[in-house]
Amino acid sequence: MKLIQLFRAPLNAITFVLLLVIVSSCSTDAMQTGNEETDSQDQQEVNKDANRQSTGSSSEALLSDKSFTSIKLEIQYMPGMEPGQQTIDNFRTFLEERLNKPAGIELVLEEIPSANKDQYSIDDIVSLENTYRTAYNDDRMIAVWGIFLDAEYTGNTENGTVLGVAFRNTSFALFESSVQEFSDRAFGPSRTVLESTVLNHEFGHLMGLVNAGAPLQSDHQDTEHGRHCTDENCLMYWTAETGEGILDMLTGGNIPSLDNQCIADLRANGGK
Ligand SMILES: [Zn+2]
Ligand SMILES: [Zn+2]
Repeated sequence: MKLIQLFRAPLNAITFVLLLVIVSSCSTDAMQTGNEETDSQDQQEVNKDANRQSTGSSSEALLSDKSFTSIKLEIQYMPGMEPGQQTIDNFRTFLEERLNKPAGIELVLEEIPSANKDQYSIDDIVSLENTYRTAYNDDRMIAVWGIFLDAEYTGNTENGTVLGVAFRNTSFALFESSVQEFSDRAFGPSRTVLESTVLNHEFGHLMGLVNAGAPLQSDHQDTEHGRHCTDENCLMYWTAETGEGILDMLTGGNIPSLDNQCIADLRANGGK
């Protein structure tokens, strides 16, 4: 079994990042397209435009306290897909270590109904966001939305399963049913480790990694694999050929952390 990560793909209207694809036979790359959905009615009530930009474009806004002194993370999940408490605790620690938000980091979890689909496309997820997201930037607070979905990604192939995606500038999704499936396997990583790895990695892309909004401070972009890091121990590493190595690393119980080069990029753009 191999594990690969897919990379950031420019789209017509939005950009997003695919990550952590587990493949069972051979390596694949994937590019997906999606279309922005408009709901002008909503925009008349709340200005949502600032939360509908390209992935990585809010790097500095998320990292520094210049424009926003606090952050609110609205995490919604479908029935049975709630992230574990330890995953949320790990995520909060990850955020506190990197973000300059003196007025606080707020995490809100909420269950939403299933959309009763067998698969979700990026368009489907954008539609869910447009329906259920309530938190948008407000004054000095920046808002981020994440969803834990109860079905797999439409772009999965027989040998590749996408576990998470970052799209827009403050939005991400985890294909939680796939995460659960892989972490429940014999010798698989624990649920907490796999969830935390995918969650932190997705947020890494929103923070602008690698070279996706946070300018490179050193030469560590794995350009062959898009917005990923060349350090094989880094959270932002892309691996195509040594998937078993990644699985082994996760099985060992460690959530990969950011390497010094990625941290330097974040610090240079306003992060801790
Ligand atoms: Zn990635
Ligand atoms: Zn790195």
